Amino acid sequence: MTNQPLPLESANAVAYAWQQLAYRAGVAATDSDISDFESLGVSVHYADPEKVVHNGKAIIISPCKPSDWVGLLETQPDSLSWLSASNLLPDDHSPGELQRLPVLFWGKGVAKISGPVFEIDSRNRLVCHVDLIATTLFMLTRWEETITLHRDERGRFPSWASVASRQKFLHMPIVDLWAMVLKKWLMRLLPEWRPITRSFDVLLSHDMDELIKYSTIQSGIHGIASAIFRRRSVHDALTALKATINWRHDPFYQGIQKLMNISETYAFKSVFNFMTSSRGSLDAGYDITQEPYLSILSEVQRRGHEIGFHPGYQAFSKEDLLRNEKYALDKILGRKNYGCRQHYLLFQVPDTWRKFNNLELRYDNSLTYEDQAGFRCGTCHPYRVFDMEQRKTLQLVEIPLIVMEKTIFSHKRLNLSPEEGFRKIMSLARSCRAVGGVFTMLWHNSTFFGDDLKWSWVYENLIEALSKLSQSPQHTGDGNRLGHEPGYLNY
Ligand SMILES: [Zn+2]
Repeated sequence: MTNQPLPLESANAVAYAWQQLAYRAGVAATDSDISDFESLGVSVHYADPEKVVHNGKAIIISPCKPSDWVGLLETQPDSLSWLSASNLLPDDHSPGELQRLPVLFWGKGVAKISGPVFEIDSRNRLVCHVDLIATTLFMLTRWEETITLHRDERGRFPSWASVASRQKFLHMPIVDLWAMVLKKWLMRLLPEWRPITRSFDVLLSHDMDELIKYSTIQSGIHGIASAIFRRRSVHDALTALKATINWRHDPFYQGIQKLMNISETYAFKSVFNFMTSSRGSLDAGYDITQEPYLSILSEVQRRGHEIGFHPGYQAFSKEDLLRNEKYALDKILGRKNYGCRQHYLLFQVPDTWRKFNNLELRYDNSLTYEDQAGFRCGTCHPYRVFDMEQRKTLQLVEIPLIVMEKTIFSHKRLNLSPEEGFRKIMSLARSCRAVGGVFTMLWHNSTFFGDDLKWSWVYENLIEALSKLSQSPQHTGDGNRLGHEPGYLNY
């Protein structure tokens, strides 16, 4: 553990957390200096309710003790308090899909309580005895990743080291769910107020690690031999032969075609994240300025899909390399503010965010775990990133990734069958819909080939099911739109 300052010890951080809660509670954004909650005619206080002298409509969130932050990291697995819907919601609200929620931080002076955690007191003040400001900052800033030093063999923060995984709430967007509870109480405090309903959205994205599998004669011959002697597949051998003769038959290029075709069938726009890195042990090193790669990128653009950036493996630790790779893509696209996802989901909080922000990238879409699916940031709403060391909100938007397909089926990870994988992914998507968030999924073009081919039907069925689940005229899954959505930029 290191001695990082708490994000909480900053007025900027607290104001940021109020805004994040307001957005998720369905409060309209304001352009004025007053906070969004205050635009409804309520004052907001992050203080001990006993000491707040204000009378009249107010929201008071009782703060936890500062030591509770580190205390939460040290809490034994599976030992948080969970509150049932009856202890969370006002009497006249049905729980819907909300059954129970974990408490990360109790308000000051509150040990575990069995009664309601929200109350409207005799002075018409909505008092919350759970520290939702700390909960929001804890999850959104990923503060724990700067304190907990566990890393996997590639330097990634592993899911098992997270509070969400150890306390078994990684499958829940808990910041969004707590904000939903706050919304119900606010509706009780302000009966005339009509909250904005945020509409569910889907963002499909594809990392272009390799565009062409058999890019040289040697790789084609190797592919034919491997298909015959290892996989004993005449079909794959013929595919390799045809691809070596004409790249348009290449299975990875065909995978890109398939991803575009399926998206277009269900009126989605996909994001394709291209690389500009040199060849390395974990980078294919295709040159996007040369044929046939340039034609592939142009085709993706022409068909109305979005181009994003996928930095090379070495660029994670070498900032000058990252900058050069980004400039190379700027030149091709003729602009610099587009989205990005890290190769291998490599991420270091807050450095990676800060570097992306400095490069004027519009959004990052990396933050799920490589070894587990779910809500690493406790939310499925895109949000402006708060840099807790610099105590300021960055321009960069995080659109949290919820699931990568390889996590679901890799035998080293969840190792689910196609049927189980389908159910798991749809369950995560339904959790996003319940809070009007954005379900984002990563699926590679290489997953339509060889041993992964059995997952092909899962993808098509998923997109059909997601299309039905969204059923909104906006279900275009457009990361650039989400990154620019005026609502998100105000938060
Ligand atoms: Zn990658």
